Amino acid sequence: MRKLYYHPGAYFDGKKSICSHCGIELGNNLLSEIPCTVQTAYYTELKNPPGYLLFIDVYNLVPHLRAGVMNEDSIKCFDLEIDPDCEDKLYEAMLAAVSEQGSISTSGHYGLTQPLACMISELAGKGKLKVRKPLQ
Ligand SMILES: [Zn+2]
Repeated sequence: MRKLYYHPGAYFDGKKSICSHCGIELGNNLLSEIPCTVQTAYYTELKNPPGYLLFIDVYNLVPHLRAGVMNEDSIKCFDLEIDPDCEDKLYEAMLAAVSEQGSISTSGHYGLTQPLACMISELAGKGKLKVRKPLQ
């Protein structure tokens, strides 16, 4: 499992992007495997589904699970298809993860907690959770 943490601001020192809060060098999209000194959202890459940065996107008081693919200057996001039998359980786990990091009344990105990451891996392994690819 790999986590990429968002850093809320950066300056360019002529060669690389440096976080203006914690001073570390950042990769694409202001992300780093090292957490910032201020609490921020993070993106989790699991073995299953592979190749995506997973996170919770909260808006209108509802948590949505999203899968992102990182490009050089943006993250392209996809929805996930969840087996209807598992939706309630996943929803409850997402609400718990959001409450741990902030509040459902604050829109934005939230990271996957350990129990939520385990649940997602398990569901993906059973084919009950899939990334919905855009129509080509
Ligand atoms: Zn930072």
